Amino acid sequence: MKEYVMTSKDYIELEDKFGAHNYHPLPVVLAKGEGVHVWDVEGKKYFDFLSAYSAVNQGHCHPKIINAMIEQAKTLTLTSRAFYNDQLGPYEKFVTEYFGYDKVLPMNSGAEADETALKLARRWGYDKKGVAENQAKIIVCEGNFHGRTITIISMSTDPDSYKGFGPYTPGFTVVPYNDIEALKKELEDPNVVAFLVEPIQGEAGVYVPEDGYLKKAYDACKAKNVLFIADEVQTGIARTGKLLACDHEGVRPDVLILGKALSGGVFPVSAVLADDDIMLVIKPGEHGSTFGGNPVACAIAQAALTVVKEEKLAENAEHLGKIFRKELEGFDNPMIQVVRGKGLLNAIIIKQTNGKVAWDVCVQMAKNGLLAKPTHGDIIRFAPPLVITEEQIHEAIAIIKKSIIEVQEA
Ligand SMILES: *Cc1c(COP(=O)(O)O)cnc(C)c1O
Repeated sequence: MKEYVMTSKDYIELEDKFGAHNYHPLPVVLAKGEGVHVWDVEGKKYFDFLSAYSAVNQGHCHPKIINAMIEQAKTLTLTSRAFYNDQLGPYEKFVTEYFGYDKVLPMNSGAEADETALKLARRWGYDKKGVAENQAKIIVCEGNFHGRTITIISMSTDPDSYKGFGPYTPGFTVVPYNDIEALKKELEDPNVVAFLVEPIQGEAGVYVPEDGYLKKAYDACKAKNVLFIADEVQTGIARTGKLLACDHEGVRPDVLILGKALSGGVFPVSAVLADDDIMLVIKPGEHGSTFGGNPVACAIAQAALTVVKEEKLAENAEHLGKIFRKELEGFDNPMIQVVRGKGLLNAIIIKQTNGKVAWDVCVQMAKNGLLAKPTHGDIIRFAPPLVITEEQIHEAIAIIKKSIIEVQEA
């Protein structure tokens, strides 16, 4: 008797029937990944141009990272922080030297790391800056994305993120992104303890601020004794052509938030980095996470960061990003309104043509072997794994162009 083999349609039905409907995925069911490619359950091969929102910068199933995970998983997986373990200390030394900070606080998801940074900033404000208890304010940007917890959505300006989830956490002030004067105005308030910013707004649709914005914002914060906190969960770890997106402007954040590619996409690993005068305001018992700093995460993150340097991923992202934007800017098609980005974090804005929108382009690209996801209706983000080669990027560009032409002419 022939065994029934499940199809993509079957898997989609299962997710639809038994999973919460909090995502709207493209109708592709993936079963395997290697480097810049993924395969669906029918065996069709695709370029992955999302990289799990820039978590898979080092490429799918990178052997060095996977081996580190397997070896550590066979040895010791979790101790909790009630005891010391032999992976955490060496990892903490490694990661702080790698990014140039005194201390690291390890967490799991990006949202948790953002929450950690907010707590750190508030406590620093009370203990070091002398702000009165419960009066601390943190400035955030319009269009921000920092995760999905109640406090984080309390500072969101996207109704999809916050609407219907109140009451909200107070203590946030919103300023327009890329507007230094608006920031300076809010910095006049002596209760402001921190400015939290994404160096490029990824989820908002890859908004790149003007050159000099981050440096000016940093200087303005320093002038008012306010912490400059960079959320580099998506932009960090070589994605934009430098190790950190802040490096493009020579800015060293007071508090640095990392996640996603910190593990190369094999495991949730996040981190907050800061120097002693900030980090040590949090005392034993005041913050933590059962899984944060677990031995497997430590082994994985160390391997993932080693791969970034060994394979010169920042340099590759810088070089191939220029080619990518040049090719698409030079592609004369009425559907392409804007091309923007830095390194290999790029986006195009699709102009609705003959009733066809960004979603249709993504469906067509998937048919032609390239996966990317539309966002906010008209934006498509292009963020391949940073191990992509020049030959592969040209192959991918050809698929993108072909797909847009097919959609536009259909
Ligand atoms: C993805 C993301 C987060 C949240 O990370 P999770 O691991 O999904 O909680 C936070 N900040 C930025 C900038 C992100 O892109």
